[in-house]
Amino acid sequence: MAREIHPNLSALSIKCSGCSNTFQLFTTMKQESMDVEVCYNCHPAYTGKRRASTTGRVEAFNNKYAGFSFTRKKPSDSADAKNS
Ligand SMILES: [Zn+2]
Repeated sequence: MAREIHPNLSALSIKCSGCSNTFQLFTTMKQESMDVEVCYNCHPAYTGKRRASTTGRVEAFNNKYAGFSFTRKKPSDSADAKNS
C-alpha cells in the first residue's frame, strides 16, 4: 500500500432528527457531527411502516386547485361585447 496518498479517517457522529437515533460512521470529511432527517432506524423502507398521512394526493390536488377553471372565453363572446 502506497504511503502518504490516503486521506485520514475520523469518526463522524450522526444524529437523526426523525427518531433521535445516534450512530457513528467513519469519514474523510473534516466534520465531527452531522444531522440527518431520516436514518435506517426510522425510514419506511427499513421499518416497513407507512407514514401516517391525513390527506391523499387527490384530495391535496383538489384543495390546491379548488378555484381553478379550465373553461376558456370564446372569441365570439368578446366580439359581441365590443359590438353591443
Ligand atoms: Zn431516524
